[in-house]
Amino acid sequence: MSKNTEKVKKLLAEESFVCARCGYCDAVCPTYATDKIESLSPRGKLQAIRMGILEKEIPEKYSNRIFQCVTCGACESVCHTNIPLVKLWTELRAKMPKPDSLKQMTQMLEQKHNIANLPNEDRLRWTKRLGNVLHLKETADVLYFPGCVSSLFPASNTISQSFVQILDNAGIDFAILGADEWCCGFPQLVGGFPEDAKKQIEHNIDEINKKKTKILVTTCPACYRIFKEEYKELSDVEIKFEVMHSTQFIDKLIAEGKIKFCELKAKVTYHDPCDLGRNSGIYEPPRKIIKSIPAVEFVELPHNRDKCICCGSGGALGFTNPEMSNTISKRKYNEINETGAEILVTACQTCRKQIKAATKENKELKVMDITEFVLKAMKNG
Ligand code: SF4
Ligand code: SF4
Repeated sequence: MSKNTEKVKKLLAEESFVCARCGYCDAVCPTYATDKIESLSPRGKLQAIRMGILEKEIPEKYSNRIFQCVTCGACESVCHTNIPLVKLWTELRAKMPKPDSLKQMTQMLEQKHNIANLPNEDRLRWTKRLGNVLHLKETADVLYFPGCVSSLFPASNTISQSFVQILDNAGIDFAILGADEWCCGFPQLVGGFPEDAKKQIEHNIDEINKKKTKILVTTCPACYRIFKEEYKELSDVEIKFEVMHSTQFIDKLIAEGKIKFCELKAKVTYHDPCDLGRNSGIYEPPRKIIKSIPAVEFVELPHNRDKCICCGSGGALGFTNPEMSNTISKRKYNEINETGAEILVTACQTCRKQIKAATKENKELKVMDITEFVLKAMKNG
């Protein structure tokens, strides 16, 4: 038995018996809210672990329950027995038979090293439109890691394009890995393939270290979380750099007087991405940034910060259970509408994509990543 398998067995066996069966987690779970079946709820899954059901050959319908989770951390945030539930769900996935969609996903990442199934050299395409606006360095203290979606999905390219323009305007020298950047490994980790994730992780650490990086900045909360939390645990390669999310970096640039804003008259609300907020504890920097823009009227969503409802795309749910993922997004749509906001700002390319799709009928609402919003406020007027 490998060291990892032993660790997983111990975590599952011990923590499932700590559960007090109170059901606080069920009350906040967005997947359970879509279909109130106890085996879908976090408490029900712990019950199944306790009863040893998951040790047996189980029908596919039931094993899929483990993948009907957006890994949003809402259950963990209310659990009064402090069970590390997000870790537990991820470890459990590694142990379970995987849906075909996830097997195909990890094969694609093994071959292409990106989630878009494109040649990895295409990671540089988003830079072309910027022409001579972009002043890339071969090596620099700051390395920008855009991640797969902002690099390779044309509708999300404006996030990476906005962030580098912010850096350029603030006079920050920075480098990128381009074709040497591989997927951060997060989709494989949450998909239940930690060994496959490890290969991407070790490649990335080597390449980032070669660039003499002191600060790695990413616009992606999933990249941020895996770099910050999992890279040390999963990799044997030494990490020689600090990791920051773009919201922390922009907040720092504002405090240093390197970013100046024009007035932006709009009613604005903010969606906390699960992997940035609940799962990484970053709530204030994005709010400070939005509130520092003159003339912005900021309103909170009814559920915000640690109570924020997932957009529906976390935990690879869009791959495994797209209908459930869309049902969760509709709940988000209703909350956003309640605020009367003209602009929904978030700080994640995947939340932005999911919320844009869910709110497309509301022509009055703009959905923006915080990098796009900041650049607009820098140029406005
Ligand atoms: S992580 Fe989120 S979706 Fe998964 S069980 Fe917990 S509350 Fe439910
Ligand atoms: S909140 Fe914690 S203790 Fe209560 S049922 Fe859920 S996992 Fe168990």
